[in-house]
Amino acid sequence: MEPAESIVRLGFSRWYERQLIESHAYLVTGFLCLIVVLASLEDFSLRGPGYQPLAMLMLIIVAGLVCCISCRRYLTILAYAEHIAEMSTCEKCRAYAAFSVTGSSAARQALSVEADQGANAWFAVRCRKCGHEWTIS
Ligand SMILES: [Zn+2]
Repeated sequence: MEPAESIVRLGFSRWYERQLIESHAYLVTGFLCLIVVLASLEDFSLRGPGYQPLAMLMLIIVAGLVCCISCRRYLTILAYAEHIAEMSTCEKCRAYAAFSVTGSSAARQALSVEADQGANAWFAVRCRKCGHEWTIS
């Protein structure tokens, strides 16, 4: 779901809170996978019985991949939420997160026949206190 739609539905504060919760869930997942990797490496031996070395190696590889993906996702979501939060202050009255979404690139693309799929997402907002309008991209 586009951030503009989520912010309209939830409000900025709840959207921001959910982004932080989601990003930190990825961080916890990555940390737990790192623990699995380190514990498996400590117990890993090529002289183990049967398929145990192969199973341990697969566990290390899968947990390592999940760890990398989770940490990358954590940083991406957190950086995007912080970027939006930095642009959520009205330039005129300095009110933080007191805005209403008035339009978005997703809504414009839905109406346009020649939708530009490669364009960055943006949404237009209006300050609820002073009426100043700006674009968050
Ligand atoms: Zn304002």
